[in-house]
Amino acid sequence: SLSDRLTATFKNLRGKGRLTEADVDATVREIRRALLDADVAVPVVREFTGRVRERALGAEVSAALNPSQQIVKIVNEELVEILGGETRRIRLAKNGPTIIMLAGLQGAGKTTLAGKLSKWLKAQGHSPLLVACDLQRPNAVTQLQVVGQRANVPVFAPHPGATSQELEHPAGDPIAVARAGVEEARQKLHDVVIVDTAGRLGVDADMMEQARQIRRAIVPNEVLFVIDSMIGQDAVNTALAFDEGVNFTGIVLSKLDGDARGGAALSVSSVTGKPVMFASTGEGLDDFELFHPDRMASRILDMGDILTLIEQAEKAWDKDEAARMAKKFADQEDFTLEDFLAQMQQIRNMGSMKKMLMMMPGAQNIRQQLEQFDEREIDRVEAIVRSMTPHERLAPKIINGSRRARIARGSGVHVSEVNGLLERFAQAQKMMKKMAQGGMPGMPGMPGL
Ligand code: GDP
Ligand code: MG
Repeated sequence: SLSDRLTATFKNLRGKGRLTEADVDATVREIRRALLDADVAVPVVREFTGRVRERALGAEVSAALNPSQQIVKIVNEELVEILGGETRRIRLAKNGPTIIMLAGLQGAGKTTLAGKLSKWLKAQGHSPLLVACDLQRPNAVTQLQVVGQRANVPVFAPHPGATSQELEHPAGDPIAVARAGVEEARQKLHDVVIVDTAGRLGVDADMMEQARQIRRAIVPNEVLFVIDSMIGQDAVNTALAFDEGVNFTGIVLSKLDGDARGGAALSVSSVTGKPVMFASTGEGLDDFELFHPDRMASRILDMGDILTLIEQAEKAWDKDEAARMAKKFADQEDFTLEDFLAQMQQIRNMGSMKKMLMMMPGAQNIRQQLEQFDEREIDRVEAIVRSMTPHERLAPKIINGSRRARIARGSGVHVSEVNGLLERFAQAQKMMKKMAQGGMPGMPGMPGL
């Protein structure tokens, strides 16, 4: 899947200090393959990867993020951008009813959406009217009536007094029905009209002409193009045809509850430049939500955790941890190896060494050391501390020769490295004490250096 591929790609980059042009190219190649596999349209993929590459190569050196995180961030931002940036809400009419027209292929989910949308709007205090303009498909009108009943929203049907037999194969002019439906809404003071239209299994000229004429007749505030998100590579041509035919204002992705990876979403919004506004996620009336570009991007990337970490790193040091350490100093408690390890883990989670260290007291003195700081050093330190018993971590003084040998064996390092660590820790502890006595506020030091 797209998510798996990207995750694997980014995993390869993790731990790299600096990315070469070759690294960037290799990553971009993986992203390209992954997007193509997810059925994102070829031209969209080309444009997208081009932008990512350009930004990755031109990226300023970030203090907060390592290079692989920076690429994740760029990919995420570009995805959000293509998907429309911010969530786009329905534009309500200033006077009279807000007219919303639905368009899309047969089976896309228009009629279902009409019910969902009307229920959702009703819950927000609107009084919608549904208008049945699909006179093509047998039972289309009754289907909308059923949906309307469930949503408890009235339906304007072409033949108010029609028998069920007549409704099964309604005849008439959908454009006239659309016009009459909007008029009805005006008369009965509905503030929203949702006009359901006919679709075909494939794009065809007659159907498009009909939709175009309905649009011209009712001048909708929004034309929502409903598209089945499982449709794959066909999504682009279908969307372009509808955009040209009815010039829609927003996109609704239906059947997102299926196995869809978001390829269609990316393609359709990218080639038309129109925002995705809603997502339909099931057959039930409540399986419906506002579309959030940022959430979709994380779904495509499936990297919610990493994105959160990136945010954290950018926000820098965890304030709670800093406060906890400050209190420890104030209470003249000892700085233990447990604290030391906690700090190490925090730093690793934040993925950023430099910014963190630069913010800490005393960082000026160790700037050169910082420049050559090796993140693998943290791995070794962590392994060593993890090989100690809890008691040893709390009272390192008890760590004698045989304990040192055991710890070295357990962590796969040489005894001299254990010695080195304990020495540095003892110095750090002293420094922390001095800082505490000097009333240093807030920031814990970085005793590993
Ligand atoms: P229309 O021809 O565009 O009006 O499409 P319909 O609203 O009649 O939907 C076609 C089929 O897709 C119906 O069986 C719906 O129940 C189903 N459907 C619509 N939206 C969704 C969705 O979001 N998820 C799932 N799983 N099924 C949906
Ligand atoms: Mg329908």
